Amino acid sequence: MHFYPHNGKLRLNCAEEYSRTKGLKKYEMDSKKDPMGRAIADYHQGKETGKIRVFSPMFDEDEIPVETLFRKYEEMPEIERKALDMTRGKALDVGAGSGCHTLVLQQKGVEVTAIDISPLSVETMKQRGVKDAKEQDFFTLKGKYDTILMLMNGIGIVGTMERLPDFFRHLDNLLAPGGQLLCDSSDISYVFEDEEGFIEYPEESAYYGELSFRMQYKETVGEAFDWLYIDADTLRQKAEENGYNVEVVAEGEHYDYLARITKVR
Ligand code: SAH
Repeated sequence: MHFYPHNGKLRLNCAEEYSRTKGLKKYEMDSKKDPMGRAIADYHQGKETGKIRVFSPMFDEDEIPVETLFRKYEEMPEIERKALDMTRGKALDVGAGSGCHTLVLQQKGVEVTAIDISPLSVETMKQRGVKDAKEQDFFTLKGKYDTILMLMNGIGIVGTMERLPDFFRHLDNLLAPGGQLLCDSSDISYVFEDEEGFIEYPEESAYYGELSFRMQYKETVGEAFDWLYIDADTLRQKAEENGYNVEVVAEGEHYDYLARITKVR
């Protein structure tokens, strides 16, 4: 199971017990517990980088190559390029990381704010020329935006299905009239499929896309955090319950898709 599932190859460890970690999500991130931010800062400073190791109770260890977080427009998956092409008005890049998407938009003359809870990522974004980068948790952000981007399975930060209604109520405040949220996610049901094509979901889980991860980079170990992968039909159903429309505007090569979410008038 790849944290970043584009073209991903499945490596599921069924033997491992699935024990989901709850409530460990940290909003004020300590830079000593910021593995991804440390990796981003090291890469930007030209230091030797290792890999970002990703652990989940259900899966074998996985990794995120640091350079993928610095991808240029040409290197981005089609669904991300599409999201950038569809961006209009005042934009917000949520969980902006190295600022790869923000920088493309800035070059096109789009007014864009980048937020991330990782202090080291925000510092690096500023050094890379992001004009408006803020260390800010999405869930306490104020402001009005015409386009909100949540990319690289960005809607994952919602964490659990239970938090979706609060997420939509927060969108009510953040989206300007006629505004859009562009986010990508994946249907990870393929992870639970056996050789004969039968799908058996972990019983403990209310919804199979609710996962828990922990990351490590060199000696820096992060807190465990909840991360949601949601299939398009479930997202549409939850959005409709909360007064929003979902339009799948692009599909990727590995069960991933780009959704355009707008408020029902
Ligand atoms: N969008 C970037 C990075 C994706 S990784 C890219 O596509 O390369 C997810 C990012 O979200 C991380 O940098 C993490 O620090 C950030 N993040 C996680 N929870 C967040 C929250 N509640 N508010 C803002 N950023 C968050």
